Amino acid sequence: MKIGMTGKTNVVKRFSRFKVAFATAALWLMVSSHFAFAAMQIEVRSRNTAVTSYVNTHLKEDILKAKPMAEAIAGFSLNEVYNDLTIVVTDAEPSSGYNGDQVLYTSNIGIQVDPSPSQYGVREFKDAFFHEFGHLIFQQYLQRHSSATLVMANLQLQYVMPNQSQDADLPYGYFEEIERFNHMQAIVMPFHELFADIFKLMVLKTEAKTSIEYTFYPFAWLESWENGDTHHALDITRNFIWNKWLTPNLNDQNKIISGGQIILKVLSDDIDRLTQPCKYDPECSFVPLKVNSDLLSILAGRLN
Ligand SMILES: [Zn+2]
Repeated sequence: MKIGMTGKTNVVKRFSRFKVAFATAALWLMVSSHFAFAAMQIEVRSRNTAVTSYVNTHLKEDILKAKPMAEAIAGFSLNEVYNDLTIVVTDAEPSSGYNGDQVLYTSNIGIQVDPSPSQYGVREFKDAFFHEFGHLIFQQYLQRHSSATLVMANLQLQYVMPNQSQDADLPYGYFEEIERFNHMQAIVMPFHELFADIFKLMVLKTEAKTSIEYTFYPFAWLESWENGDTHHALDITRNFIWNKWLTPNLNDQNKIISGGQIILKVLSDDIDRLTQPCKYDPECSFVPLKVNSDLLSILAGRLN
């Protein structure tokens, strides 16, 4: 769920901690730790004066401004999501770099910032925040439309959640089901990252221009995928969407909404198609070049 603003190396390095067995399952699962708040909660504990000032004075307004567009694209009310939203801004540990995370199935967003305003300003913060907010919207959409998400939620309930205790006897087929879950998760995440970036761009418009240029590494994307990073696997598709559709339509809100609806449906359908084999066999695969080329041909015909 991290954004690639700190550079490829850092993204890959940070991802490696997710390589631990069951970690993806655990990430998906942190549902249990969510709290129901009656109103949006924003907490900022940072020495970064620029970010702190923005968060205290303008963040809520910017989140509310994005609501009509987000709802029109998603096709459902986000009242509950907005009410439950919990945002915590903290200073990053010196060694970990600045980043963000959104815990799936919850409305919790954490952003870790660089304490120095000269290194990390409001633009970087908004870039990270609206990327994470895009994850939230995508997750809400998948929960309503994707059969893969339903399968994953069942796997989580049956196999992942009951076995958090070290003493629990593992049920028959446990490892196979966890493998199925992790394979499905590996397919879902590149789509999640793609939508999170597209959503960020739709909200921030030209403000985000340099960031998309920064996060697109020709040829490096494949290497980062092979190193286990899910952020750049669909860079080719994201670059296409940005150049051929989003940039020319940045100021046409109706086009952004209708295109956003198309993108959500295409991504969700593709997740279901690609994860279909996983329902019968724990192995299902994601081949970046093939997935990008399929997405390009579908989107080229449907986005205008
Ligand atoms: Zn992300």
